[in-house]
Amino acid sequence: MNDIRTLNIEQLSEWVVARFEKSFRAKQIYEWVWKKNVASFDKMINLPLSLREALKNEFSLHKLTLADKQQSADKSIKYGFVLADNHLIETVLIPSNNRTTVCVSSQVGCGLGCHFCATAKLGFKRNLSDYEMYEQIFIANEESKQHFGHPISNIVWMGMGEPLLNYENVIKAINHITSPSGLGMSKDRITLSTSGIAEGIRRLADDNIRIHLAISLHIADNELRTTLMPINTTNPLPQLSEALKYYYQKTKLRISIEYLLLNNINDSIKDAQLLANFCKNFPVKINLIEYNSHAYAAYKKSNKEKVQSFIDFLERKNLVVNLRLSKGKDIAAACGQLANEKQINDKI
Ligand code: SF4
Repeated sequence: MNDIRTLNIEQLSEWVVARFEKSFRAKQIYEWVWKKNVASFDKMINLPLSLREALKNEFSLHKLTLADKQQSADKSIKYGFVLADNHLIETVLIPSNNRTTVCVSSQVGCGLGCHFCATAKLGFKRNLSDYEMYEQIFIANEESKQHFGHPISNIVWMGMGEPLLNYENVIKAINHITSPSGLGMSKDRITLSTSGIAEGIRRLADDNIRIHLAISLHIADNELRTTLMPINTTNPLPQLSEALKYYYQKTKLRISIEYLLLNNINDSIKDAQLLANFCKNFPVKINLIEYNSHAYAAYKKSNKEKVQSFIDFLERKNLVVNLRLSKGKDIAAACGQLANEKQINDKI
């Protein structure tokens, strides 16, 4: 049975009218499944019983099942959700001052094999649907109100998976998030983080999606990047740079560069110089990220002195640099750590 949310409003109207019901019923159903995110057809109390029964007979409504919830000492919360086919995904809620950011997964696992990343150890299982991504955000929004007293303020596609390899579903989810019939949030609050899929970046620009773009760059030496991030073989840095230039020309949105500092791998002054060169062609904000060690990769985080020299060098080049101390480390919810431990252990 297809999930009811695979139908758009026009298809829903056709289905409703074919059952000799008034077409406004489609709008009511749509509102129940998206804006109210109800868990069952029985909850759609303004629909005639016969219509609820017809919905039950023809469609499914698979909700994410909360399997695990852990709160870090820094107040970040990691959620483990079970999907209809029993796969597991993770979502993280990160509070800071009076804002809360939700970090969303776009795929079950990831096939890109970045060497420092725990999710990579799972391999790729499947893409998430638009409603599986939307629901992570909907639940996070409710949780944010409950735990932090306000709704989520920002959404980052930085969880498990490469969102530009699940392009159509991600865009559909964004449309639901920003639509008044969904969460009604502004696109200004949404950031998509990619490992550097040049074609997807150009497509985002051409489709005029106008969300913030973050690149998980991590190293600006083309050869070394290929050894850390295999995606660089097919999307080398010159090609990525051209795509980013194109994105900026079309959107005029400043690009965020994410850079994990790995001890003795990418944290020398030479690496900072290469990074500065890469950032010459479009306005950027550089987010340097403290690496979170995990059992599945041998990398270590850079020491404080090296981090400071790296920052000083970039600032002397007039680049905007933020140092991000990763949150949720104690619950494996920090950057590069998302991967259900059990799933990895089952695999290795
Ligand atoms: S860092 Fe991102 S793109 Fe790379 S393997 Fe992990 S989830 Fe995939």
